[in-house]
Amino acid sequence: MLYVSTRGHADRKHFSEILLEGLAPDGGLYLPESYPKVDAATLAKWRPLSYPQLAFEVLSLYIDDIPAADLKRICEKTYTPAVFGTKEIVPLKKLEEGVYLEALSNGPTLAFKDMAMQLLGNLFEYELARRGEELNILGATSGDTGSAAEYAMKGKKGVRVFMTSPNGRMSPFQQAQMFSLQDANIHNLAIEGVFDDCQDIVKAVSNDLAFKRKYRIGTVNSINWARLVAQVVYYFAGYFQATKANGERVSFAVPSGNFGNICAGHVARMMGLPIDKLVLATNENDVLDEFFRTGVYRVRGSADTHETSSPSMDISKASNFERFVFDLVGRDGAKVKKLFAEDLPAKGQFELARDAKFGFVSGKSTHADRLATIRDTYERFGIMIDTHTADGLKVARQYVQPGIPMVVLETALPIKFAATIVEALGREPERPAKFEGIEKLPRRVTVLPADAKTVQEYIAAHCA
Ligand SMILES: *Cc1c(COP(=O)(O)O)cnc(C)c1O
Repeated sequence: MLYVSTRGHADRKHFSEILLEGLAPDGGLYLPESYPKVDAATLAKWRPLSYPQLAFEVLSLYIDDIPAADLKRICEKTYTPAVFGTKEIVPLKKLEEGVYLEALSNGPTLAFKDMAMQLLGNLFEYELARRGEELNILGATSGDTGSAAEYAMKGKKGVRVFMTSPNGRMSPFQQAQMFSLQDANIHNLAIEGVFDDCQDIVKAVSNDLAFKRKYRIGTVNSINWARLVAQVVYYFAGYFQATKANGERVSFAVPSGNFGNICAGHVARMMGLPIDKLVLATNENDVLDEFFRTGVYRVRGSADTHETSSPSMDISKASNFERFVFDLVGRDGAKVKKLFAEDLPAKGQFELARDAKFGFVSGKSTHADRLATIRDTYERFGIMIDTHTADGLKVARQYVQPGIPMVVLETALPIKFAATIVEALGREPERPAKFEGIEKLPRRVTVLPADAKTVQEYIAAHCA
């Protein structure tokens, strides 16, 4: 299996070569040269497998440069009941007839990003040991990504994490999750500024090529292919739980920001998983809903990017969307390059044929919708859902069809977004026992000014 750039670069690379890389040399994103096809016999063979076994089967189709026995061990070590809470790893919960939640947020940081990041931590440790190299991960977070990365990399050999976040702006629970980590290879840098300042610092440091090479700076952002392929597994697992036989079809509803999660659903369907609809849900930041309604992809400026109560979907552009567009335009790298490297910078938008959608539908959910959906779900089913999952469920209900199970991906637990739960229900969300009292634990965090030089000095001083 070789990987190509969405912008048509001539290079072909193996999985382990792109694992530690970000963008392709031409600024494109990596995708497999073709999608391996899964036929009915294979689906039948996979149906009874445990989650780690299923993960091994799916990943084996995309990774041909890690010995099978090693990959198997990595999958078994990653997806355990001790880390993810149940032996199913991603159990389904039934709501009304035909509508299910797939629980993806029972990992260490209570958001679905753990599903991929926990695997990435083990893959990084394996690959760095094999090469005899080290990596310093520099990132920016407004909450979920940073904590998932830290819990995946903590204590891993050969890896350090330097995670910037806007000082005082994450939810108290998110701050406590990150800052209470005591591992020596994890560095929390609270930047005196907003999230954009953190992103600018990461960009500036990454653009300093001499520094980047000397200190082996890398990232774990959502365009990493290994993260995406790890997410493909739970679409198969959700399908098997929602059906009895492989002739049946299932729809998935996905609360979306950077188009990473739902892009994995697209890949699963391209492989042959019988998915009926992929339902994309946005919050007030409706870049993607607009595209699927009109065919126009129009990125927003920061003034048009709203702070909402489902903050992990507050995006101005969707960084994984280019992968989907590559398939949409028939894998024409020159065309993708023109759209993303010329049209978008020049005009802030481009338009594609409105009918070419690969079976995607979409909708938008607002703060009032979230409150109503959280309240309704709690009153009718006694289940508390988080704000992002509420966006997914609200839009899913517009597309439910008799005879086709609708699986809504639960992307976080409500405890992470307590203020909105209190607003909706008048009570505090449930807190898993292992997070009792984390706000009172000692904190490891360094406050720094919004200045790339100072961050570079900090990294240099802590890389010994
Ligand atoms: C990251 C995140 C999302 C958005 O996922 P994408 O892959 O960026 O589309 C949705 N919900 C939660 C809770 C998240 O953390």
